[in-house]
Amino acid sequence: MEVIRHTENFYGKEIPEEQKQFMFRELKNMEITRFKYIIAQHYRESPYLPKVPDILNINKKLGYSQVKKDSESNKCKECNGTGYVTYKKQIDNGTAGKLINEYGAVCRCRQKNKYEGWKIADQEHRTNFYTPYIEEVVGG
Ligand SMILES: [Zn+2]
Repeated sequence: MEVIRHTENFYGKEIPEEQKQFMFRELKNMEITRFKYIIAQHYRESPYLPKVPDILNINKKLGYSQVKKDSESNKCKECNGTGYVTYKKQIDNGTAGKLINEYGAVCRCRQKNKYEGWKIADQEHRTNFYTPYIEEVVGG
């Protein structure tokens, strides 16, 4: 699990395999955002690698609403957490005059990756369509 590896890097130590297994078993029903939050909390409070009792203690201390509030305030305001935003572009449609179309772009927060139609592995579904980064299509 990625969070565990990150934790090991943070403390520059490895969590023994048995402990990791125990952690997985004990905490497998915990939501990942909550688990990450608890680990982050542990970073602030302790210079030692977190053990299952530490995690369970922090979990107990935390109200559920606290975690929820924090993860919501982390949400990107520009795309509302979706990773995509839209922008408007005027196109010249010849005799029909000028049209303003709305397009999608990848938000600055980079929650989502750029979609590039020609990179799709499945040849049949390759297109010239792609979603640019928002900075590429609107100045700044
Ligand atoms: Zn965003």
